[in-house]
Amino acid sequence: MITKQNLLKISVCFLLYGCNATKKDASKIENTEKKVDYFADNGFGNAVAIVQHPSGVYHKGITYVAYQGALEDPYVASYNHKTKEWKGPFKAGISEMGKDPNRKKKIDNHGKPALLIDDAGFIHIAFGGHGGTRSDGENPLGNHHYGKNLHAVSKKPLDISAWETLDNISLFGTYSQFVKMDNGDIYLFYRHGAHRSNWVYQKSTDNGVTFNAPVSFLKHKRRTDIEAEDSWYPWVSKGNGDDIIVAFDYHICRDNKNAQDKRGHIPERHNVYYMVFDTKNGEWKNVKNESLAMPLTKEMADEKTLVKKIPSDWTFQGVTDVDSKGNPHVIMLVGPDVGAKRSGPKRLQHFRWDGNTWLESKNVNLPRGNGDLEVKSATEVSIYLESETANDVGQISRWDSADGGDSFKKEKVFLERKNSGFVISALIDNPHPDARIIVGEKEKGSDFRKMYLLGDSGPIQRIKKFN
Ligand code: ZN
Repeated sequence: MITKQNLLKISVCFLLYGCNATKKDASKIENTEKKVDYFADNGFGNAVAIVQHPSGVYHKGITYVAYQGALEDPYVASYNHKTKEWKGPFKAGISEMGKDPNRKKKIDNHGKPALLIDDAGFIHIAFGGHGGTRSDGENPLGNHHYGKNLHAVSKKPLDISAWETLDNISLFGTYSQFVKMDNGDIYLFYRHGAHRSNWVYQKSTDNGVTFNAPVSFLKHKRRTDIEAEDSWYPWVSKGNGDDIIVAFDYHICRDNKNAQDKRGHIPERHNVYYMVFDTKNGEWKNVKNESLAMPLTKEMADEKTLVKKIPSDWTFQGVTDVDSKGNPHVIMLVGPDVGAKRSGPKRLQHFRWDGNTWLESKNVNLPRGNGDLEVKSATEVSIYLESETANDVGQISRWDSADGGDSFKKEKVFLERKNSGFVISALIDNPHPDARIIVGEKEKGSDFRKMYLLGDSGPIQRIKKFN
């Protein structure tokens, strides 16, 4: 409608700039909003990883995601698949790390958030830990390093806009991993300190209001044969029924001054292991259903839980899933010692238990890169991974096998960018097909990352306002 005022405005416009000015102004307003492939641009450092998980959960039509943002603080965003509405990211807590400009290691990266939604709808994150410091007192289950593991919960059910940090888990934790069982029990798994610490879980039966004291399941121990200590890297997930399943590898935590390896302490990891925690009766078992004494020692791990001995190559980041019969598949990154001449990313090695023995896949065609695993049956398995093609194109893709992992075929590319370093999360819990994995894309010359939520239709877009 042309009112007197508008008429006056248009006349003034004509007088001052000619008629194009009004058009120009209108297009300028339109240009300030644009659809982009990412949902946030404040991801920081290694904003997500496979180990701290899940970092996303699908729940009643909405996908909730968490990642490490500016100053290493945890951020949470959500996407409503029906209304296509994004919310957040909201800062969900304040990390003790990422605030000291004088620290030698600029970005610690260990305190990335893991996320869980309890049966009452409250959203929980655990974040900010890397073993605590000496000022936090003695760590009864290991050593110290940095940060404080904290637990924050949304003030209202299914509302990510306001959070409260509670004082009900051990601050010595790091590498938080949440598992919720069908009966609503919550398990928070983590390493109780720096490298020379036990791995533990804390259990809550009241939606995370209180947690029982930490219970150790992997034991750190001084070696008597060499100048080193036993240390572990497990990845924990829900199995069938009351089971929690664990894939893990072993870290020789050498002393800094070390006769066996002049490099001293190095990120040396070996072997592939698997075990199961039956939460119904509190019993830990190997794949053959034999009971394990807890916390598991290196000696018992080697005797009872070994998937494969990998003594010379190094390992990194195991992941596991089970088929409907409870037979596990395990993937582990395997590659040469970082000091060796052969370089480049490690290869993903796939293993599966056929009921009697561990089969090692040939992994035909599978590219080098980091990934997560989805088992559909004994022989049908998908791997979601980040990899780099020969011409520096980073890809997030899904590789399917129909022969138990012997051969893989790339069936889907979710995201592709030239010259970009990607970091990926573990698979989102109970995922909507449109939102399976969270990805951070490194921006050149910056510690910040664009954050993507990817599914079968590619990245979920978001309208961004540009000023
Ligand atoms: Zn170590």
